[in-house]
Amino acid sequence: MGMQGQPLLVTSLIDHAAREHSDREIVSRWADGSQTRTSWGEVGRDARRFAAAMVRLGMNKGDRIATLAMNHGHHLVSWYGSAGMGGVLHTVNPRLFDEQLVYIINHAEDRVLLFDAAFLPIVERLRDQLPTIDHFILFDAPAREGYSSYRDLIDAEDGNFQWVELDERDPVGLCYTSGTTGNPKGVLYEHRSNVIHAITEIQPDVFGLSNRSVIMPIVPMFHANSWGVPFAAATVGSKLVFSATNDAEGLCDLMQQEGVTHSAGVPTVWIAMFAHMDASGTGYGKLERVIIGGSAAPRAMIERFMKAGIVVGHAWGMTETSPIGTMGKRPWNWDDLGFDEQVDIVCRQGCPPFGVELRIVDDADQPLPRDGKSSGRLQCRGPWIIKRYFKADSDATDADGWFDTGDVAVIHPDGVMQITDRAKDVIKSGGEWISSIELENAAVGAPGVQEAAAVGVYHPKWDERPILLIVKKPGTEASEAGILDYLKDKVAKWWLPDEVVFVDELPHTATGKILKRQLRDDYKDYKLRSLTDA
Ligand code: ADP
Repeated sequence: MGMQGQPLLVTSLIDHAAREHSDREIVSRWADGSQTRTSWGEVGRDARRFAAAMVRLGMNKGDRIATLAMNHGHHLVSWYGSAGMGGVLHTVNPRLFDEQLVYIINHAEDRVLLFDAAFLPIVERLRDQLPTIDHFILFDAPAREGYSSYRDLIDAEDGNFQWVELDERDPVGLCYTSGTTGNPKGVLYEHRSNVIHAITEIQPDVFGLSNRSVIMPIVPMFHANSWGVPFAAATVGSKLVFSATNDAEGLCDLMQQEGVTHSAGVPTVWIAMFAHMDASGTGYGKLERVIIGGSAAPRAMIERFMKAGIVVGHAWGMTETSPIGTMGKRPWNWDDLGFDEQVDIVCRQGCPPFGVELRIVDDADQPLPRDGKSSGRLQCRGPWIIKRYFKADSDATDADGWFDTGDVAVIHPDGVMQITDRAKDVIKSGGEWISSIELENAAVGAPGVQEAAAVGVYHPKWDERPILLIVKKPGTEASEAGILDYLKDKVAKWWLPDEVVFVDELPHTATGKILKRQLRDDYKDYKLRSLTDA
């Protein structure tokens, strides 16, 4: 063998960051508005203390250590510390329903639960139903009866812990999908998959991170590992800025104060931040690049950022893909393109970075051409794509390793992938498919529209016809006729919604996406005016 074969371990990420980028800061804004700073060096030392504390509490290699927490420095320490003692860090989404929380914590057989004081009511309510948990630990508050504290735990250790021996294929993280259909399923990340994903993410055509980057992941650490940002940032020593609350005002202030250059979040977060910026006159500070994903980024949002000179990385992925599946890169001839053409490109979900393979298939599983027209089920494979759900007894892929994403997409001749819908959200009208995503994104560009959702409602002749549910921007006017007129030249004629319904708000999932399943249920028996009038 001509080369050394060090395993690719999450511990090597923190060792590198602590050694090479020791002073680079990690900023945390806590739930009470206070702010603290540590550094990669301190996180490295505290991670060893955390690992020692877990061993002292009786944790063994492979044990699941759960967190119910927002983004902050202590949460980061627990990720790396757990990895170093061979633990599997299970990030639990606090916005799930009680039954889902109980289900996944019991399914994972978590032994420790670290949580933010803000979620104490959830823990108090559910702890009797969580028999596998031996230790409840408060991240950001002093110990109290029945609960120990992170600070006491860390302070009792000297930081000389030696990482346990690990294989790069050992599990290191666990995250459950939101369970849109059936029970949530656990995705088990490995050391190797996380490290390769991290190295990929820093690339210029992916997140474009470097030592001078200051990244504020708004996407929570419980949402697909905060899209891998806490791992990627360690490889180059970017400064990390965390906020434990996601109020637009606080995020905008933090962005300004800390000189944030990069940020990542779902579209709904940016909608709220734009509203705050418009009302307060706050600017973008040093923001250079935003990564938008989790659901399709609306055109109007992309245009707004681009007009401000900010690079928009439109990403597609899912919990099962660690999560980066594709990223909207600027092609080589970018500078020769006009603004509208550039925006057209960014509206699509982008290309797979090295490591991910993509294809679209028809109902008979036959691959479809990359012609920008054929639309089919999106499948992917690669070293950070799921093979098997946690505790499942069969693979989630076919024999060739293809994982079916549940999304419907086209692939353009230049390799750019475009999501047209989630398989279950497409509106089936007269045997043809209408993309709810395209309708929604066109609608958010109409004057006075803050948020839009397109759902199919029953129609005797066409099976389904689209209606648009619209939340108006505060203090503005929008009318059904105005919106339909705006859409006229933006979508095919037969895609035009049969009706526009104004609502006060739209329901969102635990990860901030529009909850289509609920809307479909709510509007299942909706009677179109054209039918009731007839
Ligand atoms: P969930 O939405 O169920 O909580 P995930 O966060 O794993 O779980 O969501 C993954 C799904 O989100 C993808 O399968 C896709 O439908 C949708 N998605 C993610 N990014 C995009 C994007 N840029 N455009 C359109 N849809 C997206």
